[in-house]
Amino acid sequence: MTSQELIKQRRTEEWRNQLRRSIPNKERMALERTEQSKRTQDLNLASLYVEDIINYSHEEALQEARRCLDCPNPGCMAACPAGIHIPSFIKELERGNLPASWRILRESSTLSAICSRVCPHEKQCEGGCIYPVSLKKRAVSIGALERYVATEEQKNREQWHTLQPTASANGHKVALVGAGPASFAAAHDLALLGYEVTMFDAADEPGGVMRSGIPRFRLPAEVIDDEVTRLKSYGVRLELGVTVGRDVSLEALKAQGYEAFFLGTGACISNVMGVPGEDLPGVWLAGDYLSRANLLDDPQKAEEALADLKGKRVAVIGGGNTAMDAVRTAVRLGAERAMVIYRRSRDEMPATNEEIEHALAEGVELVPLHQVKAYHAGADGRVARMELHCMELTEPDESGRRRPVATGKTIEMEVDLVVVCVGVSQDPLLPQVLKGLETKWDVQIVVNDDYQTSLQGIYAGGDVIRGGATVVQAMRDGRRAASAIHQALSHH
Ligand code: FAD
Repeated sequence: MTSQELIKQRRTEEWRNQLRRSIPNKERMALERTEQSKRTQDLNLASLYVEDIINYSHEEALQEARRCLDCPNPGCMAACPAGIHIPSFIKELERGNLPASWRILRESSTLSAICSRVCPHEKQCEGGCIYPVSLKKRAVSIGALERYVATEEQKNREQWHTLQPTASANGHKVALVGAGPASFAAAHDLALLGYEVTMFDAADEPGGVMRSGIPRFRLPAEVIDDEVTRLKSYGVRLELGVTVGRDVSLEALKAQGYEAFFLGTGACISNVMGVPGEDLPGVWLAGDYLSRANLLDDPQKAEEALADLKGKRVAVIGGGNTAMDAVRTAVRLGAERAMVIYRRSRDEMPATNEEIEHALAEGVELVPLHQVKAYHAGADGRVARMELHCMELTEPDESGRRRPVATGKTIEMEVDLVVVCVGVSQDPLLPQVLKGLETKWDVQIVVNDDYQTSLQGIYAGGDVIRGGATVVQAMRDGRRAASAIHQALSHH
């Protein structure tokens, strides 16, 4: 059965026809979107580690589920990179069958608890919802509903029997390099198919950028830990603190019996702008700053320079999600002024509107149409001043994009700490040691439609093939690569 046929079959089941008819569309459309409230405006160090959005109550989830019009051609689903049967999971929720709702989510997403928190919903599923597309209304809060169902599953796993049975061991060993979302998803599917799966990661804890980059107030560590527990229950093994290509070679792993490899090594290197003074003390790269901040709740690992930003002026350079995370982290660390310096205008900022709104509500200042020219040190040798180009936007070019150009004017600004958030790149290590591995720009691994690299038996997915992308895309890549690995090994 094709996916379209399955959508139709589910939508025309008798209970669902009845449920649709039970409330007229006019009444459904008159319901206001149920907001998820923010836990606290008391932005202290503690709130750096406490999730700041509250999950729906059962009543709120039901109320929001009722807003979904159960469209015959759901635009939300077409806009979901994972292809979740969104109206189906929402209508199961509306009729109160939560385990069925969760099972529908699980078919397409192995990381619902995570994606429901971090996906840029307004640009994906919620952007395709009929409310904003045709009715000038706010989208059904699909992410919040997914989070509600995923949280209930976590609480009721035993009773719902949602841990899937694994196939009997098939005797094949697969090594996953990196333990980020791409590998989590590949590990999940391969383990269920009976493979002996090991994830190797250079870091001390699994999760990749979900753990080291995304702040805990958006994605608590327990949510990642829970996925790890699930993977372990399927027999997935973890080897942490091991850099593949340096501590152990793929050849050595082959000699240990691994027959296929998945490279989910991400894009963990923060880019620099290359402006004068960028190497001064006090100028941080996004990855270093956020990963240290994420560790501050462990006093053993705390970094003095970051532990207390009270009274400090912090400038974050860039306009994406990472910049929003960095600046909101600075607010929670006590910064007196927390600013976002961005070369285009607010309308062009790649961060989601929701995140920009959260940052503004927390007192962040946006400084659009400015670009760093140079950093200058104070008497103590640390960064103290920034020189900024004042920018303006050109008329849209053929691609429709308005380019920022310098006006010739500059301004100066005093700062105590700077965080540079201008994109990420992949680590060159594996391309350097794996002879014949095809890459773009020397670091981005190239794969075919089956996620296979130019080397037989070596697959790749996630940020390592895309550059900085999203958790849901990494997950989708991991699952597709797992399916291709299965095809290859089962026809061996
Ligand atoms: P990663 O998550 O990067 O994991 C790769 C892992 O491989 C790392 O743990 C690394 O230690 C390990 N590794 C690398 N090389 C080796 C080696 N040679 N040997 C062993 N291990 C190795 N996406 C969203 O969808 N929503 C968000 O809100 C969001 N916010 C973000 C905020 C920040 C600050 C950042 C930096 C990114 C954010 N992203 C977000 C992007 C998202 O985190 C990534 O797209 C995603 O994590 C990529 O997954 P991955 O599995 O490809 O790799």
